[in-house]
Amino acid sequence: MKSLYDFNYEQMAELALSHEWKKFRGHQIFQWLYRKRVTSIDEMSDLSKETREILKANYALKPLTLKDKQVSSDGTTKYLFALEDGSLIESVLMQFDYGKSICVTSQVGCNMSCAFCASGLTKKKRNLTSGEMVAQVMYVQQDLDKQEERLSHIVVMGTGEPFDNYENVMNFLSTVNHDRGLGIGARHITISTCGVVPKIYEFSKEHTQYNLAISLHAPNNTLRDELMPINHAYPLEELMKAIRQYASENNRRLTFEYILLRGVNDQKEHVKQLAKLLRGLNAYVNLIPYNAVDEKGFQGVDHAHAMVFYDALMKEGIRCTIRKEHGADIDAACGQLRVKHLRKEAKERQGN
Ligand code: SAH
Repeated sequence: MKSLYDFNYEQMAELALSHEWKKFRGHQIFQWLYRKRVTSIDEMSDLSKETREILKANYALKPLTLKDKQVSSDGTTKYLFALEDGSLIESVLMQFDYGKSICVTSQVGCNMSCAFCASGLTKKKRNLTSGEMVAQVMYVQQDLDKQEERLSHIVVMGTGEPFDNYENVMNFLSTVNHDRGLGIGARHITISTCGVVPKIYEFSKEHTQYNLAISLHAPNNTLRDELMPINHAYPLEELMKAIRQYASENNRRLTFEYILLRGVNDQKEHVKQLAKLLRGLNAYVNLIPYNAVDEKGFQGVDHAHAMVFYDALMKEGIRCTIRKEHGADIDAACGQLRVKHLRKEAKERQGN
């Protein structure tokens, strides 16, 4: 059964028409979901009982089941959810000076196998539906409603590769962005990709105002091949060509994510290579402190070393920032809480 969260505003109007209702009913349902933020179809009190029965017979809301919630001293909140099929996913709420941001998961597991990342410890089981991504945002927003606060930003940076689940991600974003619903501004929404080149071209043509972030992490092919297997399929030349195409078609500033890994990609030569790669682009580099993942054997750099890299890159004329760490005292690294729970479940199974 489909979830009502699977339908964006236009699709909700079509849903109404498909039941031979007025289009306006779609608008009403959308408002109940995203303005009043009801958690059941029965609460949609200005719909007739008959309409509600038809809705209930054909669509669910499919809320998520909360399995764990960790709150950090800095306010970062990590939610572990079970989906209808029992799959576990994580969402993270982060507090910034400029607002509250949710990090959304786009797939169960991930196939990109980046060498440093916990998400890839479990292969992709399936794509999330659009509704399952909307449901993450709704759960966290409903939690915030208790304090009369609202989400202002979304980053699609949780487990999964959003450009490997392109249509559902775009559909999800059109729902949460719509001004008749949550109305989270497109400029407050960021999609992060490891570099799925054909989808970067496709995304360029959409001319949305969403921000695009590229997980770069290495400034040459040898190193990037080692860290990110996607580089074998789409090496840096092809990635940068696609990015330049995006930049020529969209007047948006790009973000390049770069985790500083000690002794791996943090040397002077890497600064030079990075600067050469990015020169002339309307872009900045987000230097990311590494969240150590036990199994991976990589180490991050200390703040002083990050500052040296930062200064050197700025001197080369490349704008950059050092990302503030969030939730350092909880299982905040990408996919860590989920992996911990999967292990616990496996242990329990063995024990039985
Ligand atoms: N697949 C997408 C989005 C999910 S990952 C992508 O690759 O962009 C979101 C970001 O977190 C990526 O930049 C990723 O490389 C980074 N990341 C993964 N593991 C990390 C870790 N342990 N510490 C810090 N950043 C990490």
